[in-house]
Amino acid sequence: MAYLTLNGINKIYPNGFHAVHDFNLEIEKGEFIVFVGSSGCGKSTTLRMIAGLEDISKGELLINGVRANDIGPREREVAMVFQSYALYPQMTVYDNLAFGLQLQGVDEDEIEVKVQRVAKILGLTDYLDRMPRALSGGQRQRVAVGRAIIRRVGIFLMDEPLSNLDAKQRVTMRAEIAQIHRETGATTIYVTHDQTEAMTLADRIVVMKEGYIQQVGTPYELYFQPANLFVAGFIGEPPMNFIRATVSGGSIRINGRPYDLRGKLGEKAADYEGKDIYFGFRPEAVVLGKQPGAYVMDAKVELTEMLGDNTNVYVDIGDVNAILKVNPHDAPEMDADISFSIPVESTYLFDAETEMVI
Ligand code: ADP
Repeated sequence: MAYLTLNGINKIYPNGFHAVHDFNLEIEKGEFIVFVGSSGCGKSTTLRMIAGLEDISKGELLINGVRANDIGPREREVAMVFQSYALYPQMTVYDNLAFGLQLQGVDEDEIEVKVQRVAKILGLTDYLDRMPRALSGGQRQRVAVGRAIIRRVGIFLMDEPLSNLDAKQRVTMRAEIAQIHRETGATTIYVTHDQTEAMTLADRIVVMKEGYIQQVGTPYELYFQPANLFVAGFIGEPPMNFIRATVSGGSIRINGRPYDLRGKLGEKAADYEGKDIYFGFRPEAVVLGKQPGAYVMDAKVELTEMLGDNTNVYVDIGDVNAILKVNPHDAPEMDADISFSIPVESTYLFDAETEMVI
């Protein structure tokens, strides 16, 4: 039995706005789940319903097999870290960590042991006597995480916990959160709009759009087997290239040139005769030059962006544009006429009407 079950969960706010539609998910004990999607897609709302901070309008939440819809937030065995990690400014780090346990009436000796243990996990041992104002953003964030994990609850909820940190601190804290999860083994649900955080932290990712789940899968599955156009375009940087084309005689035509639909795509092509599809390929899947057996395209280079580890090459393929991600040493010049190859196994087709993968 799953540790946490969300069964047809819906949220309709009092103003009538339907923020979450039929959310179904089973979470195993110890899993690290990330909800990802653009701002406003319903991630926080779902998290807050799990925390008990928002009523569930329809559907059922089970924790350990027990219906939790009407259980108060304090009794749910969940701890939450928010975007704005409000620490008590008048209290030392030690007291910030200890406060929740003191409220619960936990014995001071036991609190001391717990604070020391959490401080050790989070690298805060040397800072226990400091006031929050004397800490860096990353250290404050760690205290906020510490306050949540000190309670040893079953479910750990995090809502964009790194959004107040600068880019460098975010990378460090991201690795620390992964480490804390390994050490505590706590079931974690983490909300972010950042696909890199999602890909690096998650056991499984839930991609959301406008209140609906688009796909649930491992980072590998989302990257290599996207269920639809939205997921394919959301995961990956720069995003997957999409070229709209009509299937005719088992081929599609791009810039006047026919391309036979081959492999698994070819088998389905007959069903799409006369219909529009999107032909998709990732910027990093291409090889410069003409490779035998691959889809070869001719293009003109419009712009190059040298990023150090790779160069993004913006090309014009007749009436469509695409981005290619290449080794900086091989990057073509601006305005050059080039050919590039897309291995057949690195291509995707999407139904232009339903936007589902074919
Ligand atoms: P996310 O976390 O993905 O950015 P939210 O869950 O915060 O999105 O919000 C989802 C949608 O619900 C948004 O369109 C938001 O404006 C709306 N919303 C959030 N809170 C309320 C509320 N209290 N009343 C009405 N609509 C709300």
